[in-house]
Amino acid sequence: MASVTLKEVSKSFGAYDVLRSIDLTIDDGEFVVFVGPSGCGKSTLLRVIAGLVPVSSGDVFIGGEQVTDVPASKRGVAFVFQTYALYPHMNVARNISFALETARMARNEIRQRLTKVADMLKIRHLLDRKPKQLSGGQRQRVAIGRALVSQPQLFLFDEPLSNLDADLRMEMRFEIAKLHAEISTTMIYVTHDQTEAMTLADRIVILNHGRIEQIGSPRELYDRPVNRFVAGFLGSPR
Ligand code: ADP
Ligand code: MG
Repeated sequence: MASVTLKEVSKSFGAYDVLRSIDLTIDDGEFVVFVGPSGCGKSTLLRVIAGLVPVSSGDVFIGGEQVTDVPASKRGVAFVFQTYALYPHMNVARNISFALETARMARNEIRQRLTKVADMLKIRHLLDRKPKQLSGGQRQRVAIGRALVSQPQLFLFDEPLSNLDADLRMEMRFEIAKLHAEISTTMIYVTHDQTEAMTLADRIVILNHGRIEQIGSPRELYDRPVNRFVAGFLGSPR
């Protein structure tokens, strides 16, 4: 697990400033949730941390190391998106282990990791199935398994549950909380679901127009919002 520090991180697409001088420190093992209106820069911020999008200025540190110019594949970061992006022609086992095979990891080690991850996510009975034979919740478990098997030092989730119906969302929310409790890996999680934010987060970061409005524990933000925007955001019924 690893800390994450952003120092005056800005990102522009052409003349459009999507991230404006973001300063943020996330502790080892912390679960931090980013919330904010659509288009405020949540996904861009995650992608900057992952190394999928270069910063325009500023620096990114992971585990105390400056990684601003380090490519995504070398950052030890796993990304889970709302679309599962599983390989349709591969079964679940291969979907999970493919990246390890590509990295030429020893077969034994791959098998051990696969079994462990499948047990953790309760998908052992699904290992021979193809993605199209799975429910949405099962697919998302596989996507999480694929991220987990690489033993990342940092997990990034971009609205991972927003394609699921309410019951499954709740089930998967518990599953993610349990996972974090078990492995204690640092997690950064984007959601527009207030319940997810309030129940999962050690701290919530409220973003608006590419800036941080407030950072705090769910309780602090709820009890002492710094402005109407924050109050409205966490207080509004869904
Ligand atoms: P969020 O995830 O909070 O909804 P995003 O980070 O996806 O917001 O996007 C923030 C803004 O940046 C949006 O206005 C979006 O259109 C713009 N944007 C994101 N990626 C690109 C890109 N590759 N090129 C141009 N504009 C982009
Ligand atoms: Mg987004």
